[in-house]
Amino acid sequence: MSMSAIAFDIPAEVRDAVEGLEAFVRREVFPRHEKHAALLNDEARRITPAGILPHEITDIIDEVRFASAKAGYYAMCAPTELGGGGLGLLAYFSAFERIYHLCGPRQWLAHHIVSHWAKGPSPVLKNLTAEAKVSMLPKIMSGEHTLCFGLSEPGAGSDAAGIQTRADFDGDGWRLTGGKIWTTNAPHAEYCIVFAVTDPEASAKRAGGISTFLVPLKAPGVSISRIIKMWGSPVGDEAELRFDNVRIEPHQLLGKLGQGFATAMLGVDLGRIYNSARGVGLGRWALDQAFDYVQVRKAFGKPISEYQGVTFPLAESAMQIHAAHLMAINVAFLKDRGERAVKELGMAKAFAVEAGARAVDRAMQAHGAMGMTNELLLTEAYSTLRKVNIADGSNEILRRQIVKEMLAGHRDL
Ligand SMILES: Cc1cc2nc3c(=O)[nH]c(=O)nc-3n(C[C@H](O)[C@H](O)[C@H](O)COP(=O)(O)OP(=O)(O)OC[C@H]3O[C@@H](n4cnc5c(N)ncnc54)[C@H](O)[C@@H]3O)c2cc1C
Repeated sequence: MSMSAIAFDIPAEVRDAVEGLEAFVRREVFPRHEKHAALLNDEARRITPAGILPHEITDIIDEVRFASAKAGYYAMCAPTELGGGGLGLLAYFSAFERIYHLCGPRQWLAHHIVSHWAKGPSPVLKNLTAEAKVSMLPKIMSGEHTLCFGLSEPGAGSDAAGIQTRADFDGDGWRLTGGKIWTTNAPHAEYCIVFAVTDPEASAKRAGGISTFLVPLKAPGVSISRIIKMWGSPVGDEAELRFDNVRIEPHQLLGKLGQGFATAMLGVDLGRIYNSARGVGLGRWALDQAFDYVQVRKAFGKPISEYQGVTFPLAESAMQIHAAHLMAINVAFLKDRGERAVKELGMAKAFAVEAGARAVDRAMQAHGAMGMTNELLLTEAYSTLRKVNIADGSNEILRRQIVKEMLAGHRDL
């Protein structure tokens, strides 16, 4: 797994973290997949009547997360003031790129090793209140409690500033009413990071007025009204949430009142880095499968690697994935240096997930009928990347941002 195609000087602390992470995956994840193969690969046992993962499986995920938290990988990119490792976006990208390249969709327990920005410790939590740091943070850092990110609503997706969920001040806290949709990990999370309107006038003018709260999913008035099963997965990890007059205490406020939209955008920026890593990592994983297979599969008396009709599409994807890799590393450096890099981040995410999905599709084609089976998991990698074309800013919204930046004179390319 060399980095030799990349000329960027990757800082030693990032390189070491990623090498350590790979060793951890080999030590802690691969053996668990072997040990629990009968359970993890049995479709019937992978789902409860409610349509979610059963406890037998979430217990294994927990085990991996706890081990990773103890080893220092889980919160490696969370702020040091929360007790995290304080590594930046280059580390975040590199960690997930390595995990997805190494494991693909097969050793998927590895996807839980480094805290996903919306599900655990991350810069999104940097402005927790002092009380929340005592009452909520320790179990979030240890991996015992996970989170979900409640921004999208049935009436507000791409135009997230148009959310209608309200938190009305009641003298000593707020009352939360409304609903969220597509909330990943809601079926298993302890808390939802909820974005709600606290100043309707300011919000209507798109001038702030949205605040962020950490809301326990077990709080009175919170309910999951629907488990949503997304394409490609038999179990539901997304859900629709209802908030009915839910009491919010002052210590649950995350960041400054009225400035929650900036927190939401910080989150989706992290999501764009994460998804760039998925595009590059899964794309490389799929190309590895394809380049191995075309050398052993024979047709018309020769390995199919002899046919340019088979291999040129793979070369095309190799070019695209390499470009995606360079773009993602570049934007991670820019962001770690404190630059805005709005169009570069949009370009990196849109390009990487499109290039990744195309690479997986081409790998499926090179495998013939085998590529269409559920056994190789190429189909799963494809559906994953196809879905993230929508999540964390659809690729149209990212193009819109690129255009806005270019029109505003940010023309560096
Ligand atoms: C797998 C998955 C997981 C998700 N997890 C979460 C989560 O955990 N938390 C959360 O809050 N949300 C989550 N989402 C929701 C996601 O953020 C939204 O789906 C996304 O913002 C798009 O919103 P929408 O689906 O309402 O589409 P819409 O906003 O209705 O858009 C519909 C179509 O119109 C296009 N479009 C809209 N406006 C424009 C424009 N101005 N110019 C050009 N095209 C435009 C869009 O690109 C899209 O193709 C998830 C989504 C997916 C697919």
